[in-house]
Amino acid sequence: MAKVVPASSDEQLVEAVQSAGTRGVLARGLGRSYGDAAQNAGGVVLDLLGRDRVLAVDEATGVIEVEAGISLDRLMRDFVPQGWFVPVTPGTRAVTVGGAIGSDIHGKNHHRAGTWTQHVRSLDLLTGTGEIRTLTPDDELFWACAGGMGLTGVILRARVALTPIESAFCTVDTQRCANLDGLLEAMADDDDHEFSVAWVDCLAKGEALGRSVLTRGRFARRDELPEKKQADPLAFNPRTPFTAPRGIPTGLLNKYSVAAFNEAWFRKAPARRDEEIQSITTFFHPLDAVADWNRIYGSGGLLQYQVVVPEGAEDVIRSCIDAFSHAGVASFLAVLKRFGPANRGHLSFPMGGWTLALDVPASVAGLADLLDRLDEQVLAVGGRGYLAKDSRMTPELVRAMYPALPRWQELRDEVDPNHVFQSDLARRLKL
Ligand SMILES: Cc1cc2nc3c(=O)[nH]c(=O)nc-3n(C[C@H](O)[C@H](O)[C@H](O)COP(=O)(O)OP(=O)(O)OC[C@H]3O[C@@H](n4cnc5c(N)ncnc54)[C@H](O)[C@@H]3O)c2cc1C
Repeated sequence: MAKVVPASSDEQLVEAVQSAGTRGVLARGLGRSYGDAAQNAGGVVLDLLGRDRVLAVDEATGVIEVEAGISLDRLMRDFVPQGWFVPVTPGTRAVTVGGAIGSDIHGKNHHRAGTWTQHVRSLDLLTGTGEIRTLTPDDELFWACAGGMGLTGVILRARVALTPIESAFCTVDTQRCANLDGLLEAMADDDDHEFSVAWVDCLAKGEALGRSVLTRGRFARRDELPEKKQADPLAFNPRTPFTAPRGIPTGLLNKYSVAAFNEAWFRKAPARRDEEIQSITTFFHPLDAVADWNRIYGSGGLLQYQVVVPEGAEDVIRSCIDAFSHAGVASFLAVLKRFGPANRGHLSFPMGGWTLALDVPASVAGLADLLDRLDEQVLAVGGRGYLAKDSRMTPELVRAMYPALPRWQELRDEVDPNHVFQSDLARRLKL
């Protein structure tokens, strides 16, 4: 258990940091990290959600200044109707700007746009000594905060460059790929597409191993919309029409039910369809249409496994999919994406190459051993796991996967010599 303290003024946060007990303090946004990154058992969690104001807007450039507790959902509701979109969106709108920087999140456009923090012009950081510093990308400490998992301090405010759009719709090309080779070949020209991601059937075997549905798109111009939508092309008011019920039994998602779902999902996709107009929610955030979607995993819960391997190490991706398929690991949500180059963030996850992410029921027998074996293969080719999704890596593994960790620790120690900022993840991984 942690003591959750709603954050109000800068002064109150300075006071909370200066009076931190032995289990320390940690900033939290919307708590959408899959593992223990936003938990601080026995200590204080600073709930930033009340700090959600838009402080300044430059209508000419789209640069906004916001408090870090504001959600991407709010930003989209406020700014899409004005013709601006967030520079990077994850698979849910329910994340905050502080969480987006703390995990240095990526989206379907990483190969062209990089991570969220690459669009931050400056940020205000409350350090472990109670000082408030304004950092820009010229400061190395700025990059220690990118993916720094809240351990370099509390991000109070950020100045972020939004992206201009003409409509609240995307034009989407969909393509079914018979197997992993077909998918990798199709993704070779990803650079020509603004957004790209593939859903992978991780239960398919043999010739069909890695069969997938690739979707790629870009924001639609107003004149590409059907006439009815052209009247108000930037209207954006997403709803959450469904709620997953409570009490779903843990075994509902098993290799049989998921294999049936995957078969239907694959068959439902068109062999090829170009320029379909889709809403922002359909294209970017389908899970946001179902409140409490995580309940479908039952009380056993879920775990997300996400790794990245460098370009040229596609065989490790194949090996992961093969291992999941043979073990019958029931995942209906597995995605493959091509990343662009890494940024300067010491603990930032993305690197040029391929990232595979899948949600799996945590109760699958033998899962821990299977993932440990896959981690070894990922590490052997210079790849790594994503801290924002992690609940099971070891200190040794993370040290080997993130070679800039010692430099990050030096920078963290300069601004937080007493390790006021702590989390369950930091204690588990000895960060
Ligand atoms: C359905 C779903 C889809 C997702 N899709 C993607 C995806 O496509 N790409 C991707 O990269 N991630 C994805 N994620 C993960 C998610 O984007 C990250 O975990 C993100 O950090 C969550 O933001 P949050 O506001 O909930 O942060 P939290 O989970 O509350 O915190 C995350 C980390 O940031 C730190 N932090 C939060 N606020 C601050 C602050 N103000 N100052 C300093 N540190 C802070 C916390 O201490 C913690 O270490 C997804 C998650 C879900 C549930």
